[in-house]
Amino acid sequence: MSNLIDLSIYELHNILKKREVSAIEVTRAYLNRIDNVDPKIRAYLTVTADKALAQAEDADRRLKKADAVTPLTGIPMGIKDVICTRGIRTTCGSKILENFVPPYNATIMEKLEAHGAIMLGKLNMDEFAMGSSTENSAYHPTHNPWDLERTPGGSSGGSAASVASRTCAGSLGSDTGGSIRQPASYCGVVGLKPTYGTVSRFGLVAFASSLDQIGPISRDVTDCALLLNAISGHDDRDSTSASRNISDYTGFLTQGLKNYTLGIPKEYFISGLDSDVEKSVKHAISALESQGANVVEVSLPHTDYAVATYYIIAPAEASSNLFRYDGVKYGLRVADYKNLMDMYIKTRSQGFGPEVKRRIMIGTYSLSAGYYSAYYKKASQVRTLITRDFKRAFEKCDVLAAPVAPTAAFRLGEKIDDPLQMYLSDIFTIPVNLAGIPGISVPCGLTSNGLPIGLQLMAGHFEEAKLLTVAYNMELALGLCENWPIP
Ligand code: GLN
Repeated sequence: MSNLIDLSIYELHNILKKREVSAIEVTRAYLNRIDNVDPKIRAYLTVTADKALAQAEDADRRLKKADAVTPLTGIPMGIKDVICTRGIRTTCGSKILENFVPPYNATIMEKLEAHGAIMLGKLNMDEFAMGSSTENSAYHPTHNPWDLERTPGGSSGGSAASVASRTCAGSLGSDTGGSIRQPASYCGVVGLKPTYGTVSRFGLVAFASSLDQIGPISRDVTDCALLLNAISGHDDRDSTSASRNISDYTGFLTQGLKNYTLGIPKEYFISGLDSDVEKSVKHAISALESQGANVVEVSLPHTDYAVATYYIIAPAEASSNLFRYDGVKYGLRVADYKNLMDMYIKTRSQGFGPEVKRRIMIGTYSLSAGYYSAYYKKASQVRTLITRDFKRAFEKCDVLAAPVAPTAAFRLGEKIDDPLQMYLSDIFTIPVNLAGIPGISVPCGLTSNGLPIGLQLMAGHFEEAKLLTVAYNMELALGLCENWPIP
């Protein structure tokens, strides 16, 4: 039998179901892998070995009785540390939540438990999901498995690096401006940001509530569809949750591309786009064309304003969401203070890192009396124009195809002192969040120095099925990754 950690979720499911292997054996293989490989990658903030083994015993009982077995029963997963896990510390990559142990589970954790999935641990991230490199984690940066001196991307850097280094079979991340797609692209794995409202945000620590969405990171498109099946669906505990009428996304994978029109947004092929990235993305588009898709050029004229719009809206929402970390209810409280105000100030000054403070200041400023109309209101109006651009484009095509990021993974340290450069690495992913539509990153090639490149596919609201159809066809056309980094 090939090495257990090399198998995809559906391959593991097949042998678990036939009892050729037990969930305990699979879980032990992954815990070993974490011990051997993660000291180099540093994707995990917390490893929950005892809980994982207990869950595996439970999964084995189900598998033995063939009772309530789903494709995720007995599958070891990693969870971004922004998702609340009952009884397990949830830090959000921040010192302010270093010792925070949630008394409740996020809805998606309940869903994963109902499927009998196994949690191996909590994954590293930029503090409060603010960043594009995982260097804003208050604990340590994560390393890219393809080149340890480079970033895995962010903010779900731990989630992408763990899938690429095979220290979990699949993971969950969150995406507010690109945090699932950009790290997936830098690490050569599949990452999906679902339509806003598809996956419950109950128990997801809020960054920018009108943009945040949880989604899967996986080794291939089939695994992505299986994970989406498990985590999507209406939830009464999230007022922005939508009803869903699709129960099995894998059903769409094998449909051909005969009736598909692929739109290529001309604003995404601009100067500054790395030539290797451009070459790979264009090659992937021709591969889709040869699979039967019709290709047309489209325009998203307000793309240029997306980064500026996002950096008003996201910090504004963040400054309000992060108000709750005041040292009173939970999280850090400094030991020495003179009075209540002093306690607030010292706790927040010591608990938050520089990027989080920068966002709180920008957000508070743009929401303050006198500036609200000039900044927040204006940004909301531009957001509508960006959403309208997509609507118009989808009158001409089914799915848009473009790069995920202008370059492949950059070096650790390269942009950390230049926030604007860091922000600009999200130029192609941010518009999708502003419009609330789904986007996926699928590996489409390597640069001349062997770094992964991702193709981004975008579709209209609740058209995840279309994204998965095109993504799966691209996998068929280009072939799956056979040489994962770190043997
Ligand atoms: N990199 C972007 C930011 O720093 C997006 C982060 C995210 O999607 N969570 O805000």
